[in-house]
Amino acid sequence: MEQNMSMVASHSTGKIATDKIFGANQLALEAIQKFGRENVTNATIGAILDDNEALVVLPTVEKVLRSLPAAELAAYAPIAGLADYHEAAIELTFLDNKPEAYIKAIATPGGSGAIRNTIWTYSEVGDTILTTDWFWGPYRTMCEENLRKLATFDFFNASEGFNVQGLEIKAKEVLSKQQSLVVLLNTPAHNPTGFSLSNTEWAKTIELFKELATDKSKKLILFVDVAYLDYAGEKHAVRSFMRQFSGLPENILVIIGFSASKGFTIYGQRTGAMIAVTSSKAVAEEFSNTNTLACRGTWSNCTRAGQRLLSNICRDQELHAQVDAERELWRGKIEARAAAFMAEASAVGLKTVPYKAGFFISIPTADPDAVVGKLNEKRLFAVALAKGVRLAICSIPDQKVAGMAAKIADALK
Ligand code: PLP
Repeated sequence: MEQNMSMVASHSTGKIATDKIFGANQLALEAIQKFGRENVTNATIGAILDDNEALVVLPTVEKVLRSLPAAELAAYAPIAGLADYHEAAIELTFLDNKPEAYIKAIATPGGSGAIRNTIWTYSEVGDTILTTDWFWGPYRTMCEENLRKLATFDFFNASEGFNVQGLEIKAKEVLSKQQSLVVLLNTPAHNPTGFSLSNTEWAKTIELFKELATDKSKKLILFVDVAYLDYAGEKHAVRSFMRQFSGLPENILVIIGFSASKGFTIYGQRTGAMIAVTSSKAVAEEFSNTNTLACRGTWSNCTRAGQRLLSNICRDQELHAQVDAERELWRGKIEARAAAFMAEASAVGLKTVPYKAGFFISIPTADPDAVVGKLNEKRLFAVALAKGVRLAICSIPDQKVAGMAAKIADALK
């Protein structure tokens, strides 16, 4: 083939999937081969690993999954998902903090599918979507694959809180040029920083959306990515912000991106949902209609087994309590690993991005690639992002947490 021969359409020209996370993990795996597992710290994996660095699968989840009849494993699910699963996803998302609104769910392949459908269904081709300047890379990929642009605002204000003002400025700028605005907000336990908006910060954010919505010609879509909800803290407290989605103006649509990947440790089962919260019956019906078609037009339907698994767990109080208890042990474990890291960071004067909870801690630096290069020499592997270095504290065995912060502080010198 000629060297510059290309068969792809203009929108796909020159695109290459360079996934920094998988790339960094590859380097770690090579180092493990060379130096042995005990001499390498791999902080690139966004999944819970035990102290022997094996993937954690909650035992009750495994038991219920393995007990499903063959037909539940093999059959199609309806395009929008099983009705029982809709109920389960809604229940698991809100628990006792359900807002007063019309609420509808559509099954999606993980939280990723919910993000994709939201971008596709609620923005025009060429529109700008907004998110925070620290963000999960696939947000940009999904915007660009769907012929949209991604713009960002500074996540934090001077007092290390949520920068509502930055969002306001950027939102007004974007809305001066387009009719709809989709904002992607990953909270609580944000990837890659571990930050969570407080209820007061949520109140200010909702207030801003209400102010923007006074222009009735505008459509405001707030996508709340709760992929790490189950690791953010006490289960009722971390969901309490959701009550603030009651009684919103009709031109504000909240979509919650539910994911069972982390909460149920079934990353590869591709089980998620998009959940609409709206005060308009028509918007709720339109949500179900348009997004069912969006599913049909992309991946068709989602894995039935994951949906059946979650609905079986959710409708059985005992099973549900068991899964919650098993997950709590691991949430505690991550909390302890993070606390040990943060204590050492503070002792060696290493500054992190404000961390509250969850799988990741980030270190701000002007030259992430150089810092990661130096860390790799010390056999510590992490992901270089645009604004810093991401550590997956969820995957570091207790015995390897000690010394990490000191190595990073040293690499930053
Ligand atoms: N959102 C964020 C911020 C994530 O980090 C992830 C997974 O890594 C997801 C959503 C969705 O994951 P999945 O599609 O596996 O449910």
